[in-house]
Amino acid sequence: MHAIETFNLTKRYGSITAVDHLNLKVKRGEIFGYLGHNGSGKTTTIMMLCGLVEPTEGGATVAGFDVQREVLEVKKRIGFLPENASYYDNLTARQNLEFFGELAGLAKKERKERSKELLNLVGLGEWKDIKVGKFSKGMQQRLGIAQALIRDPEVLFLDEPTSGLDPQGTRDIRNLILKLGREEGKTIFLSSHLLAEVKQLCDKVGILKRGKLSAIGSVRELARQLNRDNLIKIELEVDSLDAALRAVRDISGINEVIKEDGKIIIRAERDIRREVFYAVSGSGLEILSLKLVEPSLEEVFLKAYEVE
Ligand code: ATP
Repeated sequence: MHAIETFNLTKRYGSITAVDHLNLKVKRGEIFGYLGHNGSGKTTTIMMLCGLVEPTEGGATVAGFDVQREVLEVKKRIGFLPENASYYDNLTARQNLEFFGELAGLAKKERKERSKELLNLVGLGEWKDIKVGKFSKGMQQRLGIAQALIRDPEVLFLDEPTSGLDPQGTRDIRNLILKLGREEGKTIFLSSHLLAEVKQLCDKVGILKRGKLSAIGSVRELARQLNRDNLIKIELEVDSLDAALRAVRDISGINEVIKEDGKIIIRAERDIRREVFYAVSGSGLEILSLKLVEPSLEEVFLKAYEVE
C-alpha cells in the first residue's frame, strides 16, 4: 500500500485551476520532493492531502484513508509543517509543544514526555525553557517539525521547510529531514522550489507546472525521461581543442559539438565515446579525459518546464 495516492486530484478557484488532475503515488518510507515554481499549486496539493481544503474533483488517500470521507483518520496519521508556521512568542519551546500536544488530544503525562523527546530529537533540548520569541527562524522551523511530529505521524508534510533560513539553518533542517526519513522511517512529502534541496534529500521527485505534474521519478529516471531527444552529453579534454573539433565533427550520431570552458562538449543521439576516442587519438592528439556527463537536475528541471 502506498502512503499517498492521488486520483485526478483537482482544485479550482473560480477560473484558476490550482491543481489539475494530479495522479501520483508515494511509497511508505519515501522522501518525496514536490518541486515547482511559486504559484504552481504545491501548497494547495498539500492542503488537500491534509484534509484542509476540499478537492473540486478527484480524490486521494493518505496512510490508506480517503482524505474526504475519512478525514479524521487521515489527521491522526499525519503531521504538517505549514510554510509560515507561527508560535506563541511568550511561551517557551516546551510550553508551545505541550500546548500543541493538548490540542492533539494527548494526556498530560504523555504530552510532557513526548515534548521532551521531540525537543531532543530536533536539537532543541538545551533551549526547551527559552521563550520562542527569542528563537531564530531556523530554531522556529525545528520547533515546527517537532510540532508536526507530536502524534508520531506516519506521513509528514513539509511545505517549503527551508524557506527564509540562512545557510546554517538550512543545513540543520535538511539534516533533520534526512534523519526523520532514513532513521525514523517517516514518509515525507516535501514541497520546494529549490532544485539542490530535492536533489540532496529526495528518493523521488514530482515536477509541478501550473497545477499539472509534468514529470515524476528519481532524479536519474527524470533525467532519462525528460532528456530523451538529446540524451548524451560527452565531455572531452584534449591538448588541442581546434584539432579535436575537426577530428570528431563527422562522426555519425552527433547533434552538436562546441568548445566550452576549455573542453569539447559533444551532444549525441547515442554514446559515441568509443568513436570519439579513436578519431581523436587517431589524429595524434592526447586525450586528457573523456566522460559521459549526467544532465544536472537544473537542466532536467528546465526541460520539464519546456514540456507542454
Ligand atoms: P508558493 O510556492 O508561492 O507557495 P504554490 O506552488 O504553493 O506557491 P499555491 O499556493 O498552491 O501554489 O497556489 C496555486 C494557485 O492557486 C495560485 O495561482 C494561487 O494564486 C491560487 N490560489 C491558492 N489558494 C487560493 C485561494 N484560497 N483562493 C484563490 N486562489 C488561490
